[in-house]
Amino acid sequence: MVNLFSMKDYTKSTGTKAYKAFTSLLISLLILSISLGAFGVQPTQAQATTYPEYVVQAGDSLLWIASKFNTTLEAIMQVNQIGPDSTLHPGDKIKIPSLAGLEGVLSSEYVGLGTSINSLSRRSQVELGKLIRLNRITSPSELFIGREIFLTDVEQETPSSASAILEGQTFLELAIKSGQNQWALSHRNLLTNPNFALPQDSYYVPSANAQSDTLAVPGIGSVSIDNLPLRQGETYVLHVQSPSNVEIEAELVNQSPQFTDLGEGKQIAFGGINALTEPGVYPLTMTFRRDDGYVYRFDQLIVVKSGHYPEETLLVDPATMDEENIRAENAIFYEIIKPITPVQYWDGMFTSPAQDIDCITSKFGTRRTYNNDPNIYYHTGLDFGFCKGIDVYAPAAGKVVGVLPDLIIRGNTIIIDHGLGIYSIYMHLEKMMVEEGTMVQPGQLIGLIGTTGRSTGPHLHFEINAQGVPVSPATWLKRVFP
Ligand SMILES: [Zn+2]
Repeated sequence: MVNLFSMKDYTKSTGTKAYKAFTSLLISLLILSISLGAFGVQPTQAQATTYPEYVVQAGDSLLWIASKFNTTLEAIMQVNQIGPDSTLHPGDKIKIPSLAGLEGVLSSEYVGLGTSINSLSRRSQVELGKLIRLNRITSPSELFIGREIFLTDVEQETPSSASAILEGQTFLELAIKSGQNQWALSHRNLLTNPNFALPQDSYYVPSANAQSDTLAVPGIGSVSIDNLPLRQGETYVLHVQSPSNVEIEAELVNQSPQFTDLGEGKQIAFGGINALTEPGVYPLTMTFRRDDGYVYRFDQLIVVKSGHYPEETLLVDPATMDEENIRAENAIFYEIIKPITPVQYWDGMFTSPAQDIDCITSKFGTRRTYNNDPNIYYHTGLDFGFCKGIDVYAPAAGKVVGVLPDLIIRGNTIIIDHGLGIYSIYMHLEKMMVEEGTMVQPGQLIGLIGTTGRSTGPHLHFEINAQGVPVSPATWLKRVFP
């Protein structure tokens, strides 16, 4: 395989900086000697430097933009001729001094499954060298899934979708299949000749229903991951679309998310990043086994970002911290939320289980210490107080699979199975008003807020689990999954 990427051409900027400082010193000396000289020759005016522009988004600050592009506040203010007090408006364009010499409007996107520096360049039509400079990429392995990548002037009008050349197929066949002239298609993919196309690599064909973060695997339609970048305590979804039967195994941040077959070649796996996972880069491995024995293995690094969770200390009844009690109760609880029901009961966004969606007394993910216990726990749910009332509602359709009275830690607890490995849990209830096996609908009254179990006052602890991992419920209340 030809490696278009050369480390030698793109050395780190530290050497360049020293070189720049040295040349500017030389130039200063030169100017000094010229002005001291008898001829009074003026140095010629340097050519105007170009800078790419960043379009300000809501919530941006100059300092944040500076750190995003590896430059300083002072440099940004100088190049844009603005002061520290100037107000930023969404849509304003800010010149980026650290990318001097480049032009165009900067846009960004997250690196998706299967993205290589070459495929990114092909799809975005941004030349390889420019892409590398824009993003200070020093090695192809730095293209972690979920990393933010900057592009300039992306062709927005023709969205593309990835296609792989199948075994035995030629680029010409791919072109014919997508109704494209093969030379036009190779031009779009920045190939000088269609014969340079490689099997199993992703090529982009213009398409109306394009998904930018899609991996092309031979014989398998598409593979994508949703809710990037991954964060501590957040839900992710893996989608696979395949024309033939395929068995999938995935390995991500020490978990093996299980796929459910939804029919018509669609498979889906929900998962969650444990809130205590160290932020950093982790491997994602996927293995596809086709009926005909063909096996394709895919590896890429993926970024897990911090959830920026705060800390708190609580004083509780010591009996609720007894390890024996905790272990026995967890065993019952985890057994109930283990099965992955192969249907999706819910539809659309989850609604608030409490009467006032803003009446939150403790957020998900907060690092907690109890009494004098040195162990660090974290808050696995979202706590609602009772601002408007004490009713507790089902947030989405599902089946009641647990009505557990008097648990030492969780108190009176209801568990609803929403299917595909997604469960919602309601703890510390005063009253439980549904029975096991009941199908519930969104907005249906299921119980009343209380303070049973390990609780410091009346509240509803609302939890969502994705394949056994507690995930931030707030995300489910503001976006639709899958
Ligand atoms: Zn809670």
